[in-house]
Amino acid sequence: MIEQHMHDPEDPETEPARPSSLDWPYSDAFDDPRTLFETLPDGYYETDLHGKLTFVNDSLAQILGYSRDQLTSHWLRDVRRHMLRGPMRELAEAGRRICHTQVASQLDNVAVKRRDGTTRYLQISIALITDLDNRPIGYRGVVRDVTPQHQVEAALNQQVALMAVLRQVDAELNQTLDAELVLKVALNAALVLSHADAGYIALFDGDQLRVARASGPYQQRPVSCEGGIVGRVLRRRCPELVQDAQRDADPRSSLPDTQAQMTLPLAQHDRLIGVLNLETMDADRFTAETFDFVNLLTTRIAAAVANANLYQIAQQRLKELRGLYEQVSALEQLKTEMIRVATHDIRSPLGLIKGYIEILRLELTDMLQEAQVGYVDAIEQSIKRIEQLTTDVLSLERIEMKRGQPTERINLIHVIEHAVSDHRHASRQKAQTLYTELPDDTLTILGDSIDLVEAVGNLLNNAIKYTPEGGRVEVRLRQVHNRALLEVEDTGYGIPADKQAKVFEAFYRVKTDETRRIMGTGLGLYLVKRIVERHGGRVNFKSVIGQGSRFWIELPLVHAEALPQT
Ligand code: ADP
Repeated sequence: MIEQHMHDPEDPETEPARPSSLDWPYSDAFDDPRTLFETLPDGYYETDLHGKLTFVNDSLAQILGYSRDQLTSHWLRDVRRHMLRGPMRELAEAGRRICHTQVASQLDNVAVKRRDGTTRYLQISIALITDLDNRPIGYRGVVRDVTPQHQVEAALNQQVALMAVLRQVDAELNQTLDAELVLKVALNAALVLSHADAGYIALFDGDQLRVARASGPYQQRPVSCEGGIVGRVLRRRCPELVQDAQRDADPRSSLPDTQAQMTLPLAQHDRLIGVLNLETMDADRFTAETFDFVNLLTTRIAAAVANANLYQIAQQRLKELRGLYEQVSALEQLKTEMIRVATHDIRSPLGLIKGYIEILRLELTDMLQEAQVGYVDAIEQSIKRIEQLTTDVLSLERIEMKRGQPTERINLIHVIEHAVSDHRHASRQKAQTLYTELPDDTLTILGDSIDLVEAVGNLLNNAIKYTPEGGRVEVRLRQVHNRALLEVEDTGYGIPADKQAKVFEAFYRVKTDETRRIMGTGLGLYLVKRIVERHGGRVNFKSVIGQGSRFWIELPLVHAEALPQT
């Protein structure tokens, strides 16, 4: 601590320029303060202008681990050599500054090596000693041993630095879901923080523990879960720091030169997913603090590895699903295409059969017996069924292809008139009353008139079909708030309560004793629902078996100001 401004008595070149007084110059004025410093816990020293110690109190001798004589006698050179290498320049500069300015100076945390080799940290306050004429004659210093504070501060700083590193590693780990990158970042962080020479992260692959990422000459074969430190850590699920690794080392999981080893389990929600293993060839390198810190890191590593694995699994599933979806889409496409081609292509031969059957009926009327007339009727019925089916399937295809909200401005009254006129003949044939109740004012919606005529037509068709001869069918349209309400009510067979839930499903048909023989495809109500929903509306019904059914459609009306300009 006092090296540079000291004079070496054995070196004539450094002889002081003028003799210095080793005595306290103010002895006449008041008591020698050295007696005061003898009793203080702080160290105290005095030097001449060249730095030769002229006085050292007991406390300073104790702080430095030498006797007072050793410090002030011929041992001085050794003392200097041993303890004052680091801070010499600082002290020399302080000495020069003080000499020049005559202002006392303080040096903090001066590291000094004691005689026993340990390092102490000192706070040294240095001032100039002057004679009665105010001429400098030496230096004096008060030395406080601040080693405990220094250690606490250093530990605190280290802790803060480690926390900062932990936060950074955390951020890096959280940023990626790439399993490879997570392992790389995690192992690097563990190696750097522990100052390990080698290490690995091993993860379970089924029952086997495999090295997933390593730094060091580890074998690629599975790590033994039975023997050594790794085996013990897995069994106890408890991290271990082994300072004397040679005793425990297992050649199947540790390196031959390893002196100290720390092995920590990686667990996610109580599930053991692997281990973090770090090794060093320096027995003293792994401290309890480092071990605690790496232990903190393992929770993050385990979470990041588990997340990355989950992500990988999810990605894999997604890929599989995409593949399946593509296959299903391709099949769906093929099916749609086949149905379209089949329904289209079937219509022309069907038309031909229908034509010839009519000719046959006309030309062979007199020749056909009653049973044969029945055959022709059956053929005609079947042709009608096929026609109905192809019409419905083609409608379905047309409607399914449409996307987005319809934009045509439509007066619903016209839609209903159109649909009613299409079905008047059929109702007349069954001697039914077809009653219509329409409002005077127009009810305008944005829609698709062909589809809407089809939807209303399907409801009417059902009402007529499922109502016996002489029954009554009513069609009513009115405005309820900002919606149009269309009702189709009949006095028909009704739908059994336990079958009502499914009537809007495609190809679903309800067969009661009365309706079993009635022709249908099970697509009518499904089409109604699709069309109404595409128009932003709702369809519903009430039906009582033996009394009749009431189906209603609600559609949003468009106000005049919201109508698109034409
Ligand atoms: P379908 O071609 O069979 O008529 P829909 O989808 O139009 O197919 O109707 C599904 C089923 O709902 C029909 O099979 C029928 O049993 C029943 N249904 C529909 N409307 C009525 C109605 N007005 N009265 C009685 N039953 C009806």
